[in-house]
Amino acid sequence: MRAPARFAACALLAAAVLSAAAAPARAQDDGPRAVRLETLDVSDNLYLLRGGGKNILALVGFEGVVLIDTLGPGWGPATRAALDNLTALPVTTIINTHAHDGEIPANHEFPAVTDVLAHENTRARMARMAAFGGANARFLPNRTFSDTLALLDGIDRIELHHFGPAHTDGDAFVVFPEKGIAYLGDLFAATAVPQVDPGAGGSGRGYPDVLAAALDEISYFPEFVRGPEVRTFDRVVPGRQEPPDQTPLLDWLTWADLERYTAFARDFVAAVEQAHAAGRSLDDASAAVAALADAYPDYALDAAGSAAEMIFSELDDDAGR
Ligand SMILES: [Zn+2]
Repeated sequence: MRAPARFAACALLAAAVLSAAAAPARAQDDGPRAVRLETLDVSDNLYLLRGGGKNILALVGFEGVVLIDTLGPGWGPATRAALDNLTALPVTTIINTHAHDGEIPANHEFPAVTDVLAHENTRARMARMAAFGGANARFLPNRTFSDTLALLDGIDRIELHHFGPAHTDGDAFVVFPEKGIAYLGDLFAATAVPQVDPGAGGSGRGYPDVLAAALDEISYFPEFVRGPEVRTFDRVVPGRQEPPDQTPLLDWLTWADLERYTAFARDFVAAVEQAHAAGRSLDDASAAVAALADAYPDYALDAAGSAAEMIFSELDDDAGR
C-alpha cells in the first residue's frame, strides 16, 4: 500500500506545472534559479526535475527522497524548493551517474544525505574534486559498484548498470524495472551526437558497444516477468533534452529511441573511422558525418566536428601504441 500523501502530491502536480524559485541568488550567481517539476505518471512517486538545462529524477520514498543526479553546484536550494511541493522528507540518498570537470555533483547541498551511490571510477574522480575535500568528503559515494548494483524493493527497485567507458569511464545506467523507466544522464543526453569527455576516461569508439550492451542486458529481467509476458522498458529519460510541454510527462522518449540512438552512435563512429582509415582529413570526416543528417533528420549534429576530432585522436593514440 502506498501512503495517501503520495497520491495527494501527485494530484497536485497533475494540476499544474510547478516551478520553484530559489532562495535569493548569491552575488556570483547568474540570477535566480528555477526548477521545473514534472510527474512522470500520476500514480507513481517518480518525478523529473529540470534546471540549468539538465534533467534529473527524484523518487519520493517513505523515509526520504532518492535523487538520481543533482542539478549541479548552487542548485541545491532550488531543488529543495521544488521537492517541498512533494514532501517534507529530506534527500537521504543520491545516485551520481557520473562525474567530470563540467559535471560536479552537488551532494553536499543536501546535508541529510546518508547514502551516495556511484560507479567506482566515478567515486575515484569525485574524491579528487575540490568540492569533496575536507568535511565534504562525507558526501562521497559510500556504496560503489563495478558492473551492477540494486537498491530498494518492489515497485521502487532501482538497478544500476555499467557497461564500459562512453561519456566517462564511470557511467551508470539507472533502471526502474517495475516502473519501466530508464534514466541515462549524459549517456543519452539528447537526440544528438553523443558527448565524450576523454579527460574523464570517456571513449567515443566504445560508445556504440556500451549502448548495445545496455540494450542487450537491461531489456529483460527474469525476476520481473509477469505471467507469460516478458517485461520490456517503455520510457527513457535523457539527461538534457528539453521535455515536451505536457503534464504528466507520459509521451517522450522510449526504448525504441534508445535503439535508434545506438544505431546513430554506431553509424557516426563508423563514418569517422572509415575516413580515418582511408587517410582522409578531419574535414572529410566531418563531411561524412554531416551526411548522416539524411538518415537522422531529427538529430542535432552541431557537435559532430568536435566529436569526430576526438575519435580521430583516439584512433591516432591507438595507432601510436
Ligand atoms: Zn557529463
